[in-house]
Amino acid sequence: GSEIPQVHIFFFPIMAQGHVIPTVDMAKLFATRGVKTTIITTPANASFFSKTIQRSKESGLDVDVKILKYSTEEAGLPEGCENADLLPTSRDEPKDIVSKFFKAKVMLQEPLERLLQECKPDCLVAHMFFPWATDAADKFGIPRLVFYGVSVFSTCAMECMTLYEPHKHVESEFEQFVVPNLPGDIKLSKKQLPDYVKESVETDFTKMLKASKESELRSYGVIFNSFYELEDMYADYYKNVLGRKAWHIGPVSLCNRAIEDKAERGKKSAVDEHECSKWLDSRKPNSVVYVCFGSMANFNSAQLKEIAMGLETSGQQFIWVVRKEKSNGEEEDWLPEGFEKRMEGKGLIIRGWAPQILILDHEAVGGFVTHCGWNSTLEGISAGVPMITWPVSAEQFYNEKFVTEILKIGVAVGVQQWVSTVGDFVKKEAIEKAVKKIMNGKTAKELRNKAKALAEMAKGAVAKGGSSYSELNALIEELKLRRH
Ligand code: UDP
Repeated sequence: GSEIPQVHIFFFPIMAQGHVIPTVDMAKLFATRGVKTTIITTPANASFFSKTIQRSKESGLDVDVKILKYSTEEAGLPEGCENADLLPTSRDEPKDIVSKFFKAKVMLQEPLERLLQECKPDCLVAHMFFPWATDAADKFGIPRLVFYGVSVFSTCAMECMTLYEPHKHVESEFEQFVVPNLPGDIKLSKKQLPDYVKESVETDFTKMLKASKESELRSYGVIFNSFYELEDMYADYYKNVLGRKAWHIGPVSLCNRAIEDKAERGKKSAVDEHECSKWLDSRKPNSVVYVCFGSMANFNSAQLKEIAMGLETSGQQFIWVVRKEKSNGEEEDWLPEGFEKRMEGKGLIIRGWAPQILILDHEAVGGFVTHCGWNSTLEGISAGVPMITWPVSAEQFYNEKFVTEILKIGVAVGVQQWVSTVGDFVKKEAIEKAVKKIMNGKTAKELRNKAKALAEMAKGAVAKGGSSYSELNALIEELKLRRH
């Protein structure tokens, strides 16, 4: 056997799907390279990982889970908090995230320290919302890496916004300004910015972000679910201009090549995956548009109805994912009358969770209407599918710019404002127009060729000798060396 003990890495995610999914993929990815990986979570969330752990073990991957045990007494908190869900989830409002953020430090830092002391991992990869994880790791000389789960581009854009505050120099809400210093001349308006960027008073939320940023600066570096060639301009900017240390090891979703892995990500699918595959198998290549807005975005009935009408008039085949449960035979007020009957054989509505990469990777899928969450964006890129960008909140407006103006593999549906304000109503004509544009004709061809080239690049990056492969290797080697 080998004398060098295995490198051991802790992963500590928050419980939002957009974060858990890439974290699990990351753990699996490291495990395929001989690293022992352990996902850290709380009692309330442990069962979420059992399927992954079981399947990973079956395929010989060293992925495990460890639970942070905390006592309310020690933390000086009232009884009954033992099962409180202390990790931010997708369902949380910003105020809940903030309260968990401050509570987690009190409740979880000590249990984390105990685990670190007991297992002595070589590295702790933790979400930005656990700034105290840096202090915990420091105590034992363990390097802490930050994982945001967002693009390098949006990370740089946000840094430039904070540094130069260009929005403070424009009057009107819709007036465009250039993000200073950021390569690519990216234009935004105040309406597209999250509220907390614009607020000039300090709130608990901005305090939280500040603490997160400070801990990033004290951390060992940042790990990105991206690949160098995709964002070279920004990877260089982040490293050389902002002076940070970073590793680009993605797209991590490409580690899921088995059909079961593609199907079982995040939640259980609301459709039978084989049925879904069969449905796609019977369609021509690039003939289906896939519509999905991630795990959090919710539209009202009027907007859903408008999407339905836009899809219908586009004449295109589609798979449309709606975060609604099936109601027992009742008329669903978000669907135009007789819609499903008319669309039979032409469109598939998935009510609930869809097997997204299974769908995107299918050759029948030729377009993706997306809210531009970074995971979805990268999954679309990895599948070589042109996109219609429909950002809703978070850093999605930045990702839209990246897709439409830098990569040039998508068209914007035309949303003008961040959702927590009022939200934009997108008309059916805009949807129809965008669908036609990315699915058929000259523009579609150009977009598709570029998207396919990027997908090849993505596969090359994670293949042996590729950039992500090598950066991952370099990180593992560096962690080995640190032991001496
Ligand atoms: N996802 C999925 N099925 C769904 C909706 C989402 O598998 O019905 C996955 C998607 O593939 C992605 C993640 O959930 O990996 C969503 O992350 P993203 O960053 O795109 O958006 P968020 O949900 O964080 O807004």
